[in-house]
Amino acid sequence: MARIVQKYGGTSVGDVDRIKNVAARIKAFRAAGNEVVVVVSARSGVTNELIARAKSIHPNPPEREMDQLLSIGEQETIALTAMALEAIGVDAVSYTGAQAGIFTDKVHTKAKIKTIDAKPLEKDLSAGKVIIVAGFQGINEEGHITTLGRGGSDLTAIALAAAIKADKCEIYTDVDGVYTADPRVVQDARKLNEISYDEMLELASLGSKVMQTRSVEFASKYNVVFEVRSSFNNNPGTIVKQEVAYMEKVVVRGVAVDKDQAKVVVSNIADKPGTAAKVFRALAEANINVDMIVQNVGRDGVANLTFTVPQTEIGKVERTLAPVLKDIGGSVTLDDQIAKLSVVGVGMRTHSGVASTLFSALAGAGINLELISTSEIKISVVIAKSKADEAARVAHKAFELEKL
Ligand code: ASP
Ligand code: MG
Repeated sequence: MARIVQKYGGTSVGDVDRIKNVAARIKAFRAAGNEVVVVVSARSGVTNELIARAKSIHPNPPEREMDQLLSIGEQETIALTAMALEAIGVDAVSYTGAQAGIFTDKVHTKAKIKTIDAKPLEKDLSAGKVIIVAGFQGINEEGHITTLGRGGSDLTAIALAAAIKADKCEIYTDVDGVYTADPRVVQDARKLNEISYDEMLELASLGSKVMQTRSVEFASKYNVVFEVRSSFNNNPGTIVKQEVAYMEKVVVRGVAVDKDQAKVVVSNIADKPGTAAKVFRALAEANINVDMIVQNVGRDGVANLTFTVPQTEIGKVERTLAPVLKDIGGSVTLDDQIAKLSVVGVGMRTHSGVASTLFSALAGAGINLELISTSEIKISVVIAKSKADEAARVAHKAFELEKL
């Protein structure tokens, strides 16, 4: 007997038949004697639909009301999943985030989990029930519903697995696991059997949409080993865990492309101490995630700052920087026709020549590099969005990932 946390994503519970399919799978795990806690997302498309509806009413909806609204997507699927289980003779009960004791901070639309009070859940588990928890939501200390950022059901699952000391955490999705590249773009992409948290984290934050970044950070911090696998078949998935020595033998383990970034250029700002601090302090206070910061060498007393932000934050960036630029001078240009391509691998710590291989391959395909940044285990470049797919194929080939 094991204690298992399973998370089923939006496509896995996308319609009534799929919910029944999930219920049948859960029944089999329960029948084998396991304790099962299930986290579900909203049906695929529902969260987007709700956001669109909100925006058609208010261009910039109050974030508290957004959370109130978005949390209903998951509430539909927990109830339906619990009913589907009851219908096939499995004792099940649904929990909202609040009912599951998931307490968060007050940052609406991207709240962080502070604590989980698992007592009610433990009680129902020992009574033999399967528990279905709404992903992506929690409650703050003032009793307001919060959400954990897009894709936040992953975080709910990982955090619950840590809180109830689960033996296994399985993230069910519509793909078989983590691939060396997006198989829809790169035909000979390979499924990886194992990947380290650090690599998964880079791939997740770089737009390989398999999992929410924060959930991987959380897993790494609390050492929650998890498996990403498909709810549509029984193929083994990809195990995500702490790095082990042999993982370094592979230099590059994956290529990721993020088309949801925008490039921001703040030009002609005063070249003196404190200007960059003012720009990034304002962005940080507005909770905007900034990446790939490059500052050119100041000339004639002025300098340019270039960085990337999520495309969805463009409006917020403009509003946030307007008062700052009144103070420090300069102007902002935004470009959303870009993509960020990254190659990732823990082997980069011990191997050299990765940058030159990547840059030569992209140059060979006539692809221009607008920004470059590196970390210990990744190299990222910003390129034109129109070249992104081609670049992914070129990079995949250059590192012979089809042979992994
Ligand atoms: N329903 C939420 C979203 O679409 C959370 C999730 O699916 O994980 O972002
Ligand atoms: Mg998801």
